[in-house]
Amino acid sequence: MFMPWRAIYIPGQVNSMTASAILKIENLKKYYHVTAGLVARKVGDIRAVDDISLQMNQGEVLGLVGESGCGKSTLGKAIIRLEEPTSGEIYFDGTDVIKMSKHELRKLRGKIQIVFQDPDSSLDPRMTVGDSIDEALIVHDFKNPDTRNAKVAELLEKVGLEAGFAHRYPHEFSGGQRQRIGIARALAMDPKLVIADEPVSALDVSVQAQILNLMMDIKEKDGLAYLFISHDLSVVRYISNRVAVMYLGKIVELAEKNEFFNNPLHPYTEALLSAIATLRPGGKEKILLKGDVPSPLNPPSGCRFHTRCHRVMPVCSQKEPEFKEIGPHHYTACHLY
Ligand code: ADP
Ligand code: MG
Repeated sequence: MFMPWRAIYIPGQVNSMTASAILKIENLKKYYHVTAGLVARKVGDIRAVDDISLQMNQGEVLGLVGESGCGKSTLGKAIIRLEEPTSGEIYFDGTDVIKMSKHELRKLRGKIQIVFQDPDSSLDPRMTVGDSIDEALIVHDFKNPDTRNAKVAELLEKVGLEAGFAHRYPHEFSGGQRQRIGIARALAMDPKLVIADEPVSALDVSVQAQILNLMMDIKEKDGLAYLFISHDLSVVRYISNRVAVMYLGKIVELAEKNEFFNNPLHPYTEALLSAIATLRPGGKEKILLKGDVPSPLNPPSGCRFHTRCHRVMPVCSQKEPEFKEIGPHHYTACHLY
């Protein structure tokens, strides 16, 4: 393959902390210990997140895709230590998250918010939506009730709902409206980063676009960054500036959006894209992935994808490929390159 830019391009680093970096994670791991029997004999580790390094810039949308169980949610939760990382480093706005005290973590969870797939998980059915949002404000030290009331009204309007809805209960709203309320609650603290974990996956397709547009509008106004987790590549294409692909706890490809969709490098990415006819690069044929996703308890040797790869070579089961920059800002971990 002729790659003209190779001659002139000097590879940079994934992790050089630029001035606009908001989040930097290095060699992050989250293993779940699995035990068996009465004496809780340790059987092994589920390597849900296995050595991930990543940087996000202010105001950018990084789409994170991969099949169910590959570790996307665990990564999202580990970033704010809702799941305590096994090892690795996390810096938010230059501050070491791993070293944070409980008090500092509480503050961090104002600046980084998670929006979940199911808005009901963050809304108490017995509380009015106004009280739910208010609660988030109280937790984060907004002391004056009048300021809080005004803020609740402002937040509801920001997500396209009426301020008067504050007195209603979650069940009085549709799924899409509840997700708007979930977003309003997340915005209560003026976060700098929103981790959106499949935020539209449970919604009707017609409502998905409304919520995505809302999230984009808010982002433009507030300069937010999103880590946008989804198993749906069309959604990720719609919203992201960059896209990262995860497979069995690892990132296997990372690139700017257009580059990612026009010039996918990793065979796994190729297969994911080929599954969606409209995203298939150059009208290529559909690639069928062999077998099921292997267990993260006992991942394949070498490249974890080799058991399902349509371009597998002898080296792939022997040696783990290095995650490296192949083209400008385009990283992949594959022995083909
Ligand atoms: P995704 O969000 O990509 O679907 P998850 O992050 O939820 O994936 O899960 C990654 C892997 O970690 C899966 O194999 C899952 O079964 C496992 N896992 C997630 N949470 C736990 C937990 N609390 N205890 C043990 N295993 C877990
Ligand atoms: Mg998940």
